[in-house]
Parts: sequence; C-alpha cells; structure tokens
Amino acid sequence: MRITAQRLEILKYLIGNPIHPTAEEIYRDVKGEQPNISRATVYNTVNMLVRLGEIRELGCTSGCRRFEPDLTPHDHALCVKCGRLFDIESEGEKDTRVMVMGKPFEVKYTDITYHGLCQTCAGSDDN
Ligand SMILES: [Zn+2]
Ligand SMILES: [Zn+2]
Repeated sequence: MRITAQRLEILKYLIGNPIHPTAEEIYRDVKGEQPNISRATVYNTVNMLVRLGEIRELGCTSGCRRFEPDLTPHDHALCVKCGRLFDIESEGEKDTRVMVMGKPFEVKYTDITYHGLCQTCAGSDDN
C-alpha cells in the first residue's frame, strides 16, 4: 500500500489529537488543511490504517466509531456532556490476568471507559 500525503495527514492529525476523533471529525478538520480531500478518502484511509494496525478503532455507546493512534493499553474517560474522549494517565503495567467463566482469558488490550464530566464541563454552570 502506497503512503500517500493524505494518509500521512490523517495519521498526523490523529496522533496530535487527544480526544479520539470520529471519522466525521477527522474529515472536518483535515479538510481545513487539504480542501480537496473527500469524505470517502477519509473513511477509506481510517479503515486502511485500522487494517494495517497503525490505529485502533474504538466503539462508543452511540454507535459511532472513534480512532485511536496510541496502541498501548490504556483506559478512557468520556465526558457525557461535550462527548470528548480522553486518555486516562496510568502508571505501570496494567494487570491483564483475567478469568472468564472459570478459565483464563488472554487479554490483548483493554478499553475501559469512565463516564463523567471533563474539567471544562464540570466548571460550567449552564446545565
Ligand atoms: Zn466535557
Ligand atoms: Zn486513548
């Protein structure tokens, strides 16, 4: 697969973005830099990056898809008000020894989401 400028642009955008954007958000922001990019290109590119293992896809409760450039195991905090998804900073290795129905389960990665209010939303009183 060729490395295209658009693919690099999308990857660069993802790595610099702390809120795990959806494909739609990627499209909107990358279009600012590359006005010729199409929505289909963005969707195809993120799908390809997921297939190549360069990013990971995160499901979310409302059925949207978010994209994760950080492949190390870590948890997330979702702000229920503004919808931004943040990385939770943790120290040390995560414990990945878990049991399922009495048998060991081999964990590849974890994706635990904490739901709450980010600092910006917790500090505003217009709710
Ligand atoms: Zn918020
Ligand atoms: Zn993350």
